[in-house]
Amino acid sequence: MRKKIIAGNWKMNKTFSDAENFLITLDEELSERYLQRVEVIVCTPYPYLELAFDQADSGKFFVGAQDISSHDFGAYTGEVSAPMLHSMGADYCIIGHSERRKYHQETDEMINQKLKQLLENEIKPILCIGETITERENGITKKIIKNQLEGCCKGIELDERITIAYEPIWAIGTGKTATPQQAQEIHAFIRDWIAQNSSTRIAEDIAILYGGSMKPKNTAELLQQKDIDGGLIGGASLKIEIFVEMIDIAITSQK
Ligand code: PEP
Repeated sequence: MRKKIIAGNWKMNKTFSDAENFLITLDEELSERYLQRVEVIVCTPYPYLELAFDQADSGKFFVGAQDISSHDFGAYTGEVSAPMLHSMGADYCIIGHSERRKYHQETDEMINQKLKQLLENEIKPILCIGETITERENGITKKIIKNQLEGCCKGIELDERITIAYEPIWAIGTGKTATPQQAQEIHAFIRDWIAQNSSTRIAEDIAILYGGSMKPKNTAELLQQKDIDGGLIGGASLKIEIFVEMIDIAITSQK
């Protein structure tokens, strides 16, 4: 059975002391009962990673970054690479987030390079894909998802180190959540695509998260869907009480 995953994406939020307080409290709040049933990941801005690694030393949660360079080393001012993150001990890294695609013109080809970098450097990728509202209204959601999967995963042997996050762009930070049925339909489509491009076993092993205005009030219903294995959570991951509440819900909503 796939373990539930609750991953927080802080985006560009929190000062150093806010980050420290959050991580100390998270470590205090998580206990053995969480560990066996839910995997908790916190994706912090780069400057707070070291702090997060220190707090995560107890093994109660994992730490991820929010992006990496598609290159390994060299003259790329301002960038951070997969070998650097690996040398610091990063467990996970988000790639292909719609905000990166929108504000930094990231293409599936670039994301494909990043995915390769992460796998080569033993960091687990959280690959984000999702459609715009226009694409959904035009009835081409599955076509878009398929194109993104094909482009981002080109030449890559899929395995359970990869986590996929289905994040409909129209639901990110907007307060609009996909209904559990809308999300399940696309999650099942993604799992099918994995099975066709790899094997049924790998498709069953790969975690597929939902992201897009996930909050305590919609967490249980989303997580009860057959192919929804957890959440990638932006806004609601910033307040420790809310984040812990969602972790609790994830434990009680095992299928
Ligand atoms: C995200 O940034 O990945 C996200 C899902 O954000 P939010 O939960 O705020 O919609």
